[in-house]
Amino acid sequence: MAKKKSRNRKKKLKGIRILSALILIICAAIALKTIPGAWAFLSKYLPFIEEPRQITVPDGDMAVHFLDVGQGDCSLIVMPNGRTVLIDASVKDEGKNILEYLSYQKVTHIDYFILTHPHADHIGGAREVIETLSVGKVVMTDIETDTATFENLLLAIDKKNIPVHIAKVGDIIKLDNANMKVLGPAEKTDDLNNMSIVLRLDYGKTSFLFTGDAEEPSEKDMLEKFSPNEFRADVIKIGHHGAKTSSSLDFITAVSPQYAVISCGKDNSYGHPHTETINTLNKLGIKYYRTDEVGNLVFSSDGEKVKLLRPIA
Ligand SMILES: [Zn+2]
Repeated sequence: MAKKKSRNRKKKLKGIRILSALILIICAAIALKTIPGAWAFLSKYLPFIEEPRQITVPDGDMAVHFLDVGQGDCSLIVMPNGRTVLIDASVKDEGKNILEYLSYQKVTHIDYFILTHPHADHIGGAREVIETLSVGKVVMTDIETDTATFENLLLAIDKKNIPVHIAKVGDIIKLDNANMKVLGPAEKTDDLNNMSIVLRLDYGKTSFLFTGDAEEPSEKDMLEKFSPNEFRADVIKIGHHGAKTSSSLDFITAVSPQYAVISCGKDNSYGHPHTETINTLNKLGIKYYRTDEVGNLVFSSDGEKVKLLRPIA
């Protein structure tokens, strides 16, 4: 009888120990996630532990993030003084992931929220972003659609009284010591993809080109309006998720980037990126990365040179 009692006590003690260990692990995980600097503290004393998710750049550097948001687009620009630009917000289901990524980067305010065109894979998550964070200004085109996604987005913008700027070719959006120049759409058309806002961000001697879903007709119009030099960039976000209807040889030759980023979903039903686009990039010797293969991509610029931070090369 005494033996049985002692066995039961041992069993009980073992259970309590396992439960305590579990509670401790959960508390530690919550602490690491919620206490600012907890990871930094840990990684300082345990150098083999890397601080996850938050990307830090040296003082004075700008960061450009291309988020892995499935079959859609979302790019984040963070200036050295913390000013931010978000370009597009992928599909509705990615809204949460975008907000989570922004919280990892400690972004709580967006100075400019640029919506390249009103397709659901670019504005789908925008409503959630607008409802959750503070937004200084929305930049969009004057093209309207009658989809519920677009109408709900307008309601959300209205409800929070966010000023809207309709982008026009030649507009320059000033971001402290960086400029964003609107290069497209150079001509009006009924085609929503070709009405995508195309813009080049200049920081010092470095440039990034954001193309939305602009396709060959828009590329042609822009090349007719501006000199090829206007498109020169160190990094290009390839148009329309790598579809063969974008990225003409003339356009990519004008951009002549060091890196190309293709934002597309794993095994997407469109077959993006198309072989023709990859062939063009290979032909011009341009290094490209796909978000479906490498996840989030992050570049930094000190105004002299662009550096690839993620994936770690
Ligand atoms: Zn798209």
